[in-house]
Amino acid sequence: MSSSYKKNTITLSSVLILTLMLGGCGSDDDSDTTSDDTTTTGSDTVADATGNYQSALFDTATTSEELVDCTLENGSSTTCYQLTFNSNTVGDTEGEGTVGPYCPDTITTDRSESGLGVYDGATNPGFQSLVDAAQGMDADGYDIVDEDGNIRMSDLTQGSEEEGFSYCLSAGFDSTLEVTFLIPVTPELRSEPYELGTIDSLGVGVNGVPLTANPPSVTVAEEGVGGTGSGNIPALDQCGGHPDPSGYYHWHFIPQSINTVYESEDYDFTEQYGISCSNSFIDYDEPTSFAGLAKDGYPIYGAYDSVDAVDTLPDTVATVDECNGHSHTTDEFPDGVYHYHALEGGAPNLPPCLMGSFVDRSVTVE
Ligand SMILES: [Zn+2]
Ligand SMILES: [Zn+2]
Repeated sequence: MSSSYKKNTITLSSVLILTLMLGGCGSDDDSDTTSDDTTTTGSDTVADATGNYQSALFDTATTSEELVDCTLENGSSTTCYQLTFNSNTVGDTEGEGTVGPYCPDTITTDRSESGLGVYDGATNPGFQSLVDAAQGMDADGYDIVDEDGNIRMSDLTQGSEEEGFSYCLSAGFDSTLEVTFLIPVTPELRSEPYELGTIDSLGVGVNGVPLTANPPSVTVAEEGVGGTGSGNIPALDQCGGHPDPSGYYHWHFIPQSINTVYESEDYDFTEQYGISCSNSFIDYDEPTSFAGLAKDGYPIYGAYDSVDAVDTLPDTVATVDECNGHSHTTDEFPDGVYHYHALEGGAPNLPPCLMGSFVDRSVTVE
C-alpha cells in the first residue's frame, strides 16, 4: 500500500498541529492590543502588578514584559501580562543541542540514547522509548523499521518522506523566533474546570519555554487525503520536549518532575533503561520546584510540595482538586497561592485541567 499524497498529508497535519497550538490564525486582535492598549506607565508596570508573575522565577530574561488589556474566554475584559521570550532558551543560542535525544537510528540504539513517544496502536501501546515504539508500530504494519533494523526518520522541516513508509518525526530549531504569552494578572475562576485537550497550550514554563498539553500520538494519514494507514510518531526528548515544526522548543511534560515519572512503579524507565532527563541549562531534578505559570494565571509546581525539606505528596499538605491544585503558602508566595502540581506518575504528568479562565490565543510565536 502506498500513499501518493503522504508528504502533503504530513505537512497538513503539521500545519494543523501548529495552528491548534497557536490557537488560530490572524493577529489583528493582538496587534491592536499591543499597540493601542498597552498600559506600562506609572504604577502599572509588571513588577508592581499584584498577580503571580515574577520575572526572577523564570531563569531567563524576557525580551519584553508589559501589562496590556485583554479579553478572556469567559468574556471578561481584564489586564494581562504580555511576556515575550526568545525561543529555545534551554539550548545554546543556535538551538543546537537543545536537550534531545530524539529519533533513535536503529532498534539496537541504547534506550538511554533514544527519545520517547506515545504509540496508540495495537502492539504495546503507551508512552515508551522510540526504540520500542518503532518495533510495536512495525509489528502493526507501519513500515518504520527497514530490513537492517534502521528506524526511518524524517525532519519535518525538510519534508523528506517517501511514499509507503512510516517515520519517526523530528524537526529543526529556529532560535530567531520569539514566543509571546498573554496571561491574566488576576485569575478568574471558570464556572467549570477546563479540560486540557491534546496539544492545548497549558502556559509558560521556566526559561520561557511553552508548556503544551498531551503530545500527538501516532499521526495517521487521513483517508480521503491520500492516507493508507501510514503513521508517523513525533519524537519527544527525555525531558518531555521537542521542537515544533516551526522551530520552537516546547514541553509536553512538567520537566521538573519527569524523572519522578520515569522512576514510578508504572514506568520504571530509569532503572530498566537508564532513561532520565538532564540538561545543563536548567535544573530538571527538583520535583518540588516552581515550574511555570498556567495560562489562567495560577502557578504550577512539580509533583511534590516540600515540607521541612521533605518531598511530600500535595494531597497531604492541603486536599487537591480535580485539576491537582490547591492553596497554601510556598517559598515563592509566602501569603499563599492557588497552584497546580504535576502528576506524580502520570505520562504526560501535566495537571489535567484548569480552574481559571484564559485568553483564547494565549501563546503566539513569530
Ligand atoms: Zn509538541
Ligand atoms: Zn502545593
